Amino acid sequence: MNDILKKISGAKRIAIAGHVRPDGDCIGSCMAMYNYILNNYHIGIVNVFLEFVPEKFSYIDHVEDVITDYSCEADYDLFISLDCGDTERLGQAYKYFEAAKDTINIDHHISNTKFAAINHVEPESSSTCETLYGLLDEKKLDLSVATALYTGIVHDTGVFKHSNTGKRTMEIAGSLLEYGVNNSAIIDESFYQKTYLQNQLLGRCLIESMLVLDGKCIVSVIRKEMLDFYGATSKDTDGIIDQLRVTSGVEVAMLVIENDYQVYKVSMRSNDLVDVSKIAVYFGGGGHIKAAGCTICGTAHDVMNNILKLVDAQLREHHGC
Ligand code: AMP
Ligand code: MN
Ligand code: MN
Repeated sequence: MNDILKKISGAKRIAIAGHVRPDGDCIGSCMAMYNYILNNYHIGIVNVFLEFVPEKFSYIDHVEDVITDYSCEADYDLFISLDCGDTERLGQAYKYFEAAKDTINIDHHISNTKFAAINHVEPESSSTCETLYGLLDEKKLDLSVATALYTGIVHDTGVFKHSNTGKRTMEIAGSLLEYGVNNSAIIDESFYQKTYLQNQLLGRCLIESMLVLDGKCIVSVIRKEMLDFYGATSKDTDGIIDQLRVTSGVEVAMLVIENDYQVYKVSMRSNDLVDVSKIAVYFGGGGHIKAAGCTICGTAHDVMNNILKLVDAQLREHHGC
């Protein structure tokens, strides 16, 4: 039994949490851990905290147990953070982390700050779900855990297509199918399916996008008025950045979303030459070499200019000028 499983088996009160604005890997890894603990240990209290869980993930077992209200004051024996690179991104769950007797951090972000007592970070892993699979006892997995893990891998690899997809990723996904995971339904319903509103936003973003830096970078801005007009939130923008990235000739795609007045969430994706995690970290964010994000305040124009300068510098470095 590894150190992480030992800590879990010795705890009486466990809290599990992921990052703010949870994505498929964050929800998948938290729910896989939750279901694994429920199935295999007799622990007094196990709570999962996530800001929200979109309806499309309702096929994951016990997702209805997720606590989205952080008002309860509690101290846990063990706090397990999944898919979260730093304590700021724990959001409101930070208070449980701070008060916990022991802490574990399981993640795959290159920018992870190793903030817990035990840090298991694998930057070469496609997803936290891939990393978590390696930590759990294969013989103790079941369909509920396998479904949650498969979901996270599918989401963070963009259905096994991003460059983070390795041999091990495919082997693990293959093993998960043996538990009876409904792969087609997971991929279609949780990844590809979009609401009408999401498609409308995608359309607007593509029409209004701009090619800059000699066509090497594509940028699209979603202003708060646009979100308000459609009655949308930043959750409805999932997948837009992926469509921008596959524009031919583009090295870097950037989606800038105004969540609050002059507060911009920036998502970046790189195809090959640029390390966008360096740029995100410079602005207080983080992520991976080819997918990273940060939040910047100011005018949209300043946000774009500041980031584009760094993208341009990396592109020039690459071309030796
Ligand atoms: P996104 O563009 O939001 O899909 O994020 C791409 C990657 O960067 C994900 O792995 C995120 O966890 C990470 N990321 C996004 N925003 C931030 C941030 N403000 N701080 C740290 N990591 C971030
Ligand atoms: Mn994530
Ligand atoms: Mn992840």
